[in-house]
Amino acid sequence: MSNQNPVFIPGPTNIPDRLRLAMQVQTQDHRAPDFIETFAPVLEDTKKVFGTTSGQVVTYPASGTGGWEAAVTNTLNPGDKVLVARYGVFSHRWIDLCQRHGLDVQVIDCPWGSGAPAEQFETALSKDNAHQIRAVLVTHNETATGVRSDISAVRRAIDTANHPAMLFVDCVSSLASMPFEFDEWGVDIAVSGSQKGFMLATGMAILCVSPKALAASATATLPRTFFDFRDMMQANASGGFPYTPPLQLIYGMRESLKMLFEEGLENVYARHTRLAEGVRRAVDAWGLQLVAEAPELYSDTVSAIYVPDGINSNALTDHAFNAYGMSFGIGLGQLDGKAFRIGHLGSLTDAMVLSGLSTIEMAMADLHYPINLGSGVAAAQDFYRKGSPDHAKAAA
Ligand SMILES: *Cc1c(COP(=O)(O)O)cnc(C)c1O
Repeated sequence: MSNQNPVFIPGPTNIPDRLRLAMQVQTQDHRAPDFIETFAPVLEDTKKVFGTTSGQVVTYPASGTGGWEAAVTNTLNPGDKVLVARYGVFSHRWIDLCQRHGLDVQVIDCPWGSGAPAEQFETALSKDNAHQIRAVLVTHNETATGVRSDISAVRRAIDTANHPAMLFVDCVSSLASMPFEFDEWGVDIAVSGSQKGFMLATGMAILCVSPKALAASATATLPRTFFDFRDMMQANASGGFPYTPPLQLIYGMRESLKMLFEEGLENVYARHTRLAEGVRRAVDAWGLQLVAEAPELYSDTVSAIYVPDGINSNALTDHAFNAYGMSFGIGLGQLDGKAFRIGHLGSLTDAMVLSGLSTIEMAMADLHYPINLGSGVAAAQDFYRKGSPDHAKAAA
């Protein structure tokens, strides 16, 4: 029965029945006209989620990591310089990918729990008079630490330095859960995936590409075949795909977009803020600390929570799974053993989050954490009741 429990890992996320059913389709000829009718509107509608009219959406059968590879190999040349800050495992993995592609990676190491260092970017870019830095790479939501960075501040840093570098943003764990403004923030490539905010199975990398990045892809010389924008966009122009498309995921994506628009993107974002705030109230009531350093950095999709000194957080996540059949995120990288994570993105309601909070609370009590059983749940309940539209009516 425990496979009925929602997961509280920050991706892959819970797949609602409606999307599971939408992905249950018989094989179809992807060269038939009805595929074209399905696929083209999906690309068009996804632009609304990225917040773009000028960008172009492309998808690949891949996880988010494939999306990073597509961004880098399509636009850069061997030895090109890129500027990246490292403040968690995901920003680190992007650096690693660039290094393995033979790029010259200028890394700014930041404390884990902090976000993209706009001022340090500005300094580095201002010093680069020869404009050797081709791109600035930023992880919007660092899933390892529960930190959301201010992308508009990074844009301002690039503009203030009067620098032509492209801006690439990893929004894998933020898109479709927190606001994203591709055009307004002047993003050149945004990389996401199917298995987080879109509530789908893993397997589709979803990117948005600006005209400037597209122009760079015409002459870039890093090797690429599978991820080549040129093949993809040429095929997409007539509604097709350069190889066999992940049909089930495209059907799922069509339904996911419908769900997001029915709820309304603003309401989706507000729901994530509310869910996250309930979790934060619980953390506070337990007397524990978030890894994120300051409220303006708090992620609405994942909270990383330090466990008390001398306790191994992996024992907690193991116990929650073994005793109660519920998955929470482990501490990654520097936070291994020191923190656990509660993913609160995608298909979740107040009631579902309360089930997660009450379960992790039981697990903490079992392992003799210095918390009061029920305190976190009560704090979240108190917050969610007040946020419920019927609460005011019932109280009147
Ligand atoms: C999940 C995630 C990724 C992508 O990981 P894949 O396993 O390749 O899909 C990339 N960046 C961030 C911030 C993520 O949360």
